[in-house]
Amino acid sequence: NSKPGAYKRVLLKLSGEALMGDDAFGINRATINRMVEEIVEVCAMGVELALVIGGGNIFRGVAPGAQGMDRATADYMGMMATIMNSLALQDALKRRGVDARVQSALNIEQVVEPYIRPKALRYLEEGKVVIFAAGTGNPFFTTDTAAALRGAEIGAEVVLKATKVDGIYSADPKKDPNATRYSRITFDEAITKRLEVMDATAFALCRDQKLPIKVFSINKPGALKRVLLGDDEGTLVHV
Ligand code: UDP
Repeated sequence: NSKPGAYKRVLLKLSGEALMGDDAFGINRATINRMVEEIVEVCAMGVELALVIGGGNIFRGVAPGAQGMDRATADYMGMMATIMNSLALQDALKRRGVDARVQSALNIEQVVEPYIRPKALRYLEEGKVVIFAAGTGNPFFTTDTAAALRGAEIGAEVVLKATKVDGIYSADPKKDPNATRYSRITFDEAITKRLEVMDATAFALCRDQKLPIKVFSINKPGALKRVLLGDDEGTLVHV
């Protein structure tokens, strides 16, 4: 526990694509290891870390065959993909000496322990990383919403949304050279300016619960640590 950080308990949302690297789908070994190094760094700071991971990377490989499928069925497949990612991440963390526990919103008792809030809270207090798998457990939702929900449930101080871009910009930085990054922005400003932060359900939940969202790039080395130290990294969405 070296430098005191800005946050003590956080929820980090990683998209499935964060594990994919430059591959077309699936889990890229080098990429997941890089992700783990970022996490190891912040665990060493004594931050209580919970994770929600998406499933887009696995679902992409399945998507062509899933075309025209019943939405709810496809969504359950998507949730199962997040369980695979969660187990892969837990394994990779374990190899680096980080004690991580997976809790799933869907019960697959032979494979993964179910979501039990008091138990999750205890793990966090014990310094274990908790990975919440299977999203919210309900179709028609996303892992962004799961991140907002679990973040609120565990009393996280902030939801950290890892994206490809290092924050929220006034315009698309790829198209507009004058685009500037917002350091901080309120929920209301984000709505007025029609800035896409998280999906609408997740965004509304965070806003109602006064749970700030930090958007940053996990691909920038050391960014997660800087965010937790309270550096001017990414964009903070606040009330
Ligand atoms: N999903 C769902 N309910 C949830 C969370 C996820 O039905 O609470 C399904 C949904 O089909 C989604 C997929 O799981 O497309 C993967 O999640 P998400 O798209 O959020 O993953 P990401 O794009 O972040 O990798």
